[in-house]
Amino acid sequence: MWIALTIYGSAVIGANWFIRSQNRLKSRAVALTFDDGPDPAVTPAVLSVLKEKRVPATFFLIGEKAEKYPHLVRQILADGHEIGNHSYSHSYWLGFFSADKLREDLVRCSRVLEEISGEKIRLFRPPFGVTNPRYSRALASLALVSVGWSLRSYDTVTGSSARLLARLVSGVRGGRIVLMHDTLPQTAEALPSFLDYCRDKGIEIGRLSM
Ligand SMILES: [Zn+2]
Repeated sequence: MWIALTIYGSAVIGANWFIRSQNRLKSRAVALTFDDGPDPAVTPAVLSVLKEKRVPATFFLIGEKAEKYPHLVRQILADGHEIGNHSYSHSYWLGFFSADKLREDLVRCSRVLEEISGEKIRLFRPPFGVTNPRYSRALASLALVSVGWSLRSYDTVTGSSARLLARLVSGVRGGRIVLMHDTLPQTAEALPSFLDYCRDKGIEIGRLSM
């Protein structure tokens, strides 16, 4: 029973088993979140769509990539979007890291982002949505708030922008936090039609604002 619950809690961020994540907005607006960037090919495309449609978003950045492409981080901020910590290494093994090693990885990401932005980083999204008790201790000690999602686009497994759009459109409801990735061309391709759909249906795109 314990093992089953542990696997369930670790894998399903909505379950809030180990850490409290914010998975919904309190308002009727929808929040857009993009993970795994900054990406030299796709982030600029996503930014230009957001600018054209005049909507805000939150980018959960990988520290290692932010260090490599600081101009993209500055561009995200200059366009009025929010940034958050998505770990430095985005290692598949983060969930198995010791408490010290995990904390070090998260600190390193915040440090890179804070150096570039001059802002205190408050938001965190766990890579792969996986959490465990070591995360809850590390996040508490770093005063990071974990943000989950309530509409997963599955853009990482959906190669076609048409199918991705269909999924986004069928799942979008007021209060939902949408998980996407600004590393995939299909995401940038589906985004304009998705935002037009929201506008036509009167669905407001808002900020995550904790
Ligand atoms: Zn990720």
